[in-house]
Amino acid sequence: MPAVPAARAENDADRVAHLRRFEILDSLPEGAYDDIVALASQLCGAPIALISLVDAERQWFKARVGLEAQETPRDLAFCDHALLRPDAVFTIPDAHADPRFADNPLVTGPPHIRFYAGAPILVEGGLPMGTVCVIDTQPRLLAPAQAAALQALARQTAALLALRAHTRLAQQQAAELAKTSAEAQRERQRSAELLDLVLRGGNLGLWDIHVPSSVWTANARELEMLGHAADGAGPSTTDWRTLIHPDDWPQVRAALQAHLGGAAPAFQCEHRMRHRAGHWIWVQSHAVVVDRSADGQPLRVVGTHRDVTRRKEAEAEIELAHARLQQLSTTDALTGVGNRRHFDDCLAREWARSARTHQPLALLMIDIDHFKLYNDRYGHPAGDDCLRRVAELITACARRGGEIVARYGGEEFAVLLPGTPIDGARAVAQRCLQALRDGAIEHLASPTDGVVSLSIGVAVRVAGKSIEPKALTDAADAALYEAKRGGRDRLAVGTAG
Ligand code: GH3
Ligand code: MG
Ligand code: MG
Repeated sequence: MPAVPAARAENDADRVAHLRRFEILDSLPEGAYDDIVALASQLCGAPIALISLVDAERQWFKARVGLEAQETPRDLAFCDHALLRPDAVFTIPDAHADPRFADNPLVTGPPHIRFYAGAPILVEGGLPMGTVCVIDTQPRLLAPAQAAALQALARQTAALLALRAHTRLAQQQAAELAKTSAEAQRERQRSAELLDLVLRGGNLGLWDIHVPSSVWTANARELEMLGHAADGAGPSTTDWRTLIHPDDWPQVRAALQAHLGGAAPAFQCEHRMRHRAGHWIWVQSHAVVVDRSADGQPLRVVGTHRDVTRRKEAEAEIELAHARLQQLSTTDALTGVGNRRHFDDCLAREWARSARTHQPLALLMIDIDHFKLYNDRYGHPAGDDCLRRVAELITACARRGGEIVARYGGEEFAVLLPGTPIDGARAVAQRCLQALRDGAIEHLASPTDGVVSLSIGVAVRVAGKSIEPKALTDAADAALYEAKRGGRDRLAVGTAG
């Protein structure tokens, strides 16, 4: 007759799953468990003692004395029967006399079991994992104290299992923590590398100001930008304000105040900074407050500097070239005074201004007398020299500062006198006539005293009358014609209207 296997509890699958979570099946021997079976064997006076854990289809011995086998099939396991009464010590006083076990190969063959007593190992939740059991080859019984001892050892085994679970959990958490902190460390490293890349790629220096003390610190790139060795030896001062060009300081302070006060989302400014070699470099500054005190006072400002010196220099060059071009396009190449185009622009502008402000606007139209004869007598190059000299003399007569002197045509000049009434204009014209007499440019072919002389037509725009600038030039032209007709080396006054 074959051995009768124990019935399986309904929750056996849960029980097996629970057991496997301890990861103790097929583990190496451990002293604590070995001690338990040694004690069980001794206390119960039994030659065989086991910690038997009941897996799905086998029982596996975590610790054993008096038995060679490491495991047996579950169907032959005495322990399996013990699981059905978890709260009691399961005892077979004589296996030969028990129909469930009489034919069990462990009874009929080695280890020739006659007596069995097993105390279930109950883990949290009351599930039995197996037993602490004792086996004898003689039929017998356990004394109540021995049965109690066996149960106590089963509880100790359960406690060891619980400890194992806790230890494993703690180890897992520690490993997890180590992994996360290593990852965080790597992440920080990556961020630092990325930041460095960005700073390098953008040619950016990084700086950091502790606001209450004004102490300034900088990264290697920033120091390098300011001409300091990248080995960290920075400027002798740590007060950043002394590194800023004094002329730029008001602008820097305003931009900084705007950010610190909350009016601007960031501090942004272009200004000069002191280079170690003594010159100034231009930087584009960008910064934000990164730390504030409890009452909102800024504690720390972090920012970047980009060296924009080359761009600034290029901009200045362009500006200069532009100004030069502007000057060229408005200047008469021969005499250096304004050209006709410049005169026309100025006339239009001053005309509009005079209309707006009801200020008078005077115009002198100046023509050199007998200049054809001058050329004929002295030659064209000398004529050019004469034109230059006349332009100089006329310019010297315009003393208020706002006058516009221009070459109007071949040997004709125009002087525009904003805000000047007729008397003032007449005075300027008189000065010009006198300057030519005093200048005494020889003109032996001229019927007028043997020196170069001028004829001048003076006209003034009377507020509220003339409606367009041409009226003024026409009036000055007409007056000039009159001066010529009157004998030259003189002025005549006309009125625009
Ligand atoms: P008037 O007293 O009536 O003004 O006689 P004028 O000879 O000065 O006048 P006209 O208009 O007959 O001659 C002007 C001369 O100015 C003719 C021209 O050759 C000369 N001229 C015009 N532009 C230049 C120049 O750029 N250089 C020189 N050397 N001569 C010039
Ligand atoms: Mg002329
Ligand atoms: Mg002339």
